[in-house]
Amino acid sequence: MARPEGTESVRVLGITGGIASGKSRVTEAFRQLGAATLSADDLAREIVLPGSPVLGQLRERFGPRILAADGSLDREALAVVIFGDEEARRDLNAIMHPAIAQLAQAHLERLRHTQAPLVVYEAPLLFEVGAERRVDAVLVVKVAPQVQLCRLMARDGLDETAARLRIAAQMPQEDKLARADYVIDNSGSPAQTQVQVRDLFRKLTTSAAGRDQPESLPSG
Ligand code: ADP
Repeated sequence: MARPEGTESVRVLGITGGIASGKSRVTEAFRQLGAATLSADDLAREIVLPGSPVLGQLRERFGPRILAADGSLDREALAVVIFGDEEARRDLNAIMHPAIAQLAQAHLERLRHTQAPLVVYEAPLLFEVGAERRVDAVLVVKVAPQVQLCRLMARDGLDETAARLRIAAQMPQEDKLARADYVIDNSGSPAQTQVQVRDLFRKLTTSAAGRDQPESLPSG
């Protein structure tokens, strides 16, 4: 689905894509061009800081075994608890996702009204949690499957079987691409991706600026 050119202003761009597709890199490239950025992963860390209501809910559901000695969330312990337990995973998501959504909404509302030429929201599960409602358009970072596998293995130190399992557990890339307004192909070099980011940044910020200009008056 391609967004018809120039029909809608894009103030908040959602960025999503599969694991190790290059979402972080692409988001960083937008930031360097002047975009304000927000990351769902950062929000997920923020909502479980010691003393937060969400951490309290997690403790209530999963017990004190998910807390480290200093009272912070022990992510590895939590991962062990939910591993292979579908109901536990669902409960975890039911606690985390609404809290992330609420915080994202507040941050995005604030960022919408700043001077930044564009706001970018990086969310790995953007489609899965319905967060496309919170953005004006969605960019999907695409990557060739073999390249994705190699980059994931290298980045996370996984063997091929483990890496394939992680990829297979996700919404297929094709489904994400079918719902994208914009696509950047990150299969090539960083420089090739950079060019695509710059072009899209220009396109989105130039059209927005254009709409803010008074219409030119006929000179004669
Ligand atoms: P994501 O945020 O989607 O999980 P990352 O941005 O972390 O993906 O990229 C995955 C890995 O691939 C990282 O180690 C990153 O440095 C590397 N990488 C990303 N894009 C490229 C590229 N165009 N060329 C080479 N390596 C890349």
